[in-house]
Amino acid sequence: MSHHDNKPPKVCIVCGMPLKDKNDYPGGDTSLDWCKYCGTKDGIHPYKKLLEGMAKFLQQTQGMSEEESKKAAKQMVDSSPAVKMGKVKVAE
Ligand SMILES: [Zn+2]
Repeated sequence: MSHHDNKPPKVCIVCGMPLKDKNDYPGGDTSLDWCKYCGTKDGIHPYKKLLEGMAKFLQQTQGMSEEESKKAAKQMVDSSPAVKMGKVKVAE
């Protein structure tokens, strides 16, 4: 149990997923700022891989078409804190 239960949970700087539990982090490393879907303990996935992963997730969970999901994924990643902080480079 944590002694910081009054603090709001950290969220992934790429996808915004709440990082509530050790299991939400890559390799269980709670010092990281991203979730296990957006990177490994060595770093955030490259831009293209982030878009692919997020598009697939949106197709599966939101029932979006491939085209819709790709647009939505690009919007989400492009406006994420990770991009604003320069931790993910937007590539064409
Ligand atoms: Zn994430």
